[in-house]
Amino acid sequence: MSASPSAHADTLLAPLTTLKVTPRTARLLQNLCGDRLIDVLWHLPFDLQTFTRYERLSQAPSDAPVAVVVRVIGYNIPPSRRLPIRVHTDDQGARLDLVFFGNARQWIPKTLKKDETYLIFGTIEDYRGRRQVVHPDRTLSLAKADTAAMSFPRYPLTKGMTNLGFLAVRDQVLARLPELREWIAPARRQDWPDWAQAVRTVHLLTNDAPLAPEHPARRRLAYDELLAEQIAIHSRRQHIHAQENHPTKATGHLTRQVRHNLPFTLTKAQETALIEITADQSKPHVMHRLLQGDVGSGKTVIALLAMLGAIEAGGQAALMAPTEILARQHWQTIEPMLASLEIRAVLFTGRERRKKREEIYQDLAMGRIDLMIGTHTLAQPALSFQKLRLAVIDEQHRFGVDQRRVFARKTEGCDLLCMTATPIPRTLQLMAYGDLDITNLREKPPGRHPITTRVMSLDRQNELIRTLKDSPDHHAFWICPAIDSDKIENATDRYESLYKEFGDQVGLIHGRMKGPEQDAVMKKFQDRKIRILVATTVVEIGVDVPHANLMIIEDAQRFGLAQLHQLRGRVGRSEVSSYCLLLFAPPLSAPARERLNIMRESNDGFIIAEKDLQIRKGGDVLGTRQSGMPLLRLVDEDAHIDLIQQANDDAAEIMTRDPDLTSPQGTALRELLKLFGKNIEKNTID
Ligand code: ADP
Ligand code: MG
Repeated sequence: MSASPSAHADTLLAPLTTLKVTPRTARLLQNLCGDRLIDVLWHLPFDLQTFTRYERLSQAPSDAPVAVVVRVIGYNIPPSRRLPIRVHTDDQGARLDLVFFGNARQWIPKTLKKDETYLIFGTIEDYRGRRQVVHPDRTLSLAKADTAAMSFPRYPLTKGMTNLGFLAVRDQVLARLPELREWIAPARRQDWPDWAQAVRTVHLLTNDAPLAPEHPARRRLAYDELLAEQIAIHSRRQHIHAQENHPTKATGHLTRQVRHNLPFTLTKAQETALIEITADQSKPHVMHRLLQGDVGSGKTVIALLAMLGAIEAGGQAALMAPTEILARQHWQTIEPMLASLEIRAVLFTGRERRKKREEIYQDLAMGRIDLMIGTHTLAQPALSFQKLRLAVIDEQHRFGVDQRRVFARKTEGCDLLCMTATPIPRTLQLMAYGDLDITNLREKPPGRHPITTRVMSLDRQNELIRTLKDSPDHHAFWICPAIDSDKIENATDRYESLYKEFGDQVGLIHGRMKGPEQDAVMKKFQDRKIRILVATTVVEIGVDVPHANLMIIEDAQRFGLAQLHQLRGRVGRSEVSSYCLLLFAPPLSAPARERLNIMRESNDGFIIAEKDLQIRKGGDVLGTRQSGMPLLRLVDEDAHIDLIQQANDDAAEIMTRDPDLTSPQGTALRELLKLFGKNIEKNTID
C-alpha cells in the first residue's frame, strides 16, 4: 500500500522532475503538455485501443491490435543508428520481429531479454515476407500477463514520445492524486463523480464512454475549469468595483461645442450608449466597461465625448489604438474637432524624436496635456499621467494580454473604456469579458447602404479587372493574406500584377513597411490619388476611408469570419453603394463555402458571430485569441457551452456570499483555484 495521498492541490503543482522520468522524457512532456504533474492529468486521451489476446502467434491476424506471448530468440542491431533494431521472437516456430527506431538499442536487450517470454501488445504487419510489430504498444513480462488490462487509452503524443511512455508517467501521477475536499455545492453537483474519481475515470478507461465530452466525469472537469476561471473573473470584478475614485462631474462645456461641430447628429443608440457610460463615470467607483459595436457603428465619437467629460472634470484622458495607422486616423478625425476648444491634445506614436518625446513626458506628468492619442506606446513605463481619469482602449482584443496588463496597471484607479468591433455571443462574453460591464451599440448611423457581398472564383479575375477599369468611381481595397510567401497569393505579387494594368493608381501597404511609408500610402488613398490599395490585414481594423466602396479579399476562405467581417467593414461607410468580393482559388471545400455564404447572407456582426459559433465544430471558439479568451484545456466548445452559464451563476453566488473564500466550501475552492493557476484578489474586507 502506498502512503495515503495528501489533501492538497500543491502536490500536483510539483515539476515532472519529481517523478521517475528521464530528463529527455521530462523535456518531451514539457512540450507536449507542460512541466508540472497537473499538466499530465489535463492531457486527455482521445481513443481507447482494445487488444485481442491470441493463444498462438500463428492465429493472430495482421493489421489489428493483438496481444500474443512470444519468446526472444535474438537481436539484429545494425551499426548505423539510423537503422532500426530488430528483436527476433518465436512462438512454436512462428516468427515475429519487434522493430524499434531511435535510441532503443540502449535499453532493449535489458528489457527484452534473450530466451525470456513476454506478452506483446501491438499491431502486426507483413513486411517483405516477415511479420513484424513496429514499436509494440506494450510489452509485459509473463508474470504480469494474466492480470494485464487488454485496453489502453491512447493519448495525443509528440515525436519521440510513445504512448507507453506516457502511460507510465500518467500512472505515477495518478498514484499521487490527492483526495481533495468537494468544492461543488451538493445542489449543483448533479450526477457528477467527485474530482479524483472524475480524473481517474477519464484516464483509466475501461470502455470508451468517458472519451465523450458529454460523460459526467468530463463535464465535471470542464465545469471545474470554468468555475475556477469564473471565480477569478468575479473576484477581479468585485475588486474593481470596490475601488473608489472621484466621480467625474462633467460640466458639458467641451462636449457641447464638439457636438455642435459634428457633421452629424448622434443616433439614438449612440446617445443611449453615451448615457450609460457617463452615468458610470459619474459614480464614485472605478468604471470598467466594454463598448461593443459592429464595425462602422460610430464608437469613436462616443469615446471622444466620454474623454471630454473626463477633461471637463479636471482630469486627463487617453486613447490607445492597436496600430499606428489607426492612432493617426483617430488623430486626424479628432484633432480638428478640438480646434476651438481650450485643451491640449497630443498624438504620441513613439516615433517622435527624443527631445520632443521628453517634452511630452514632462507635459503629461505635469498635466499640461489633456488628451493623448497613441498606440501601445502609451503603456511605456517612462510615460506617466498626472491625473488620468479615463483610458480608452480601441479594438481592445487586438492588444496582447501583456500590453493590456501593463496599461491596466498604469491606469489603475481610473475609468476604463474598452471598445471592440468583434462581437461575440453572450455565453462567450462571460468568459472573455466577465470582469467588464457591457454597453452594446446595435444600430448603425442612418443612410448606410448594406454592402453587397459576392463569392467569386479567382478564375474570374480578368473579368474583375475589366470591371475595375470600366468604373473609375470604384475605390478599392484589395486584401491578400500574406506579405510574401511561396505558398499563398501575396500582396507584393498582386501589387505588381495590378500595377501593369493600372499604373500609379495602385498602391501597396503592409505591416513590414515603415510607419512614414505606410502613412504616405494611406494618405494617397484617402486623397483619392490611389484608387486600388493592395494591402495585408494591416487595414483590417478601424481604418476609415469613407469613399472606399469596394473590398476585394483574395483567398477569402483563409480568413476567419470575424476577420472577414472586419475587413468588409472598411467599406459601406458612405451613401454610395458598396461591394465586397470574396475571392477563392478553387476547389472550395463545402464547409469553406458555407462560411463564405454566411458572409454573403448577413451584414450583422452579431449574427455572423453566432453562426460562426454554430458551424465551427471542434474549431477554435473558446480558445480564440481574437476575443482575448482564456485558454481552456478541458472544455469542449460544443458539449460544454451550457456549463459556462452555470459556472458564471455559481461563481457570482459564491463570491457574493464568501468573497475571500473563508467558508468550508471556500477553502475547498482555494484548492480548485490552485489546480488551474487562478487567484482571487486580496480585497474587500479591510
Ligand atoms: P467604429 O465603431 O467602427 O469605430 P467609427 O467610429 O470609425 O466606427 O465610425 C464610422 C464612421 O461613421 C465615421 O466616418 C464616423 O464619422 C461616422 N459616424 C459616426 N457616427 C455617426 C452618425 N451618428 N451619423 C453619421 N455618421 C456617423
Ligand atoms: Mg473604430
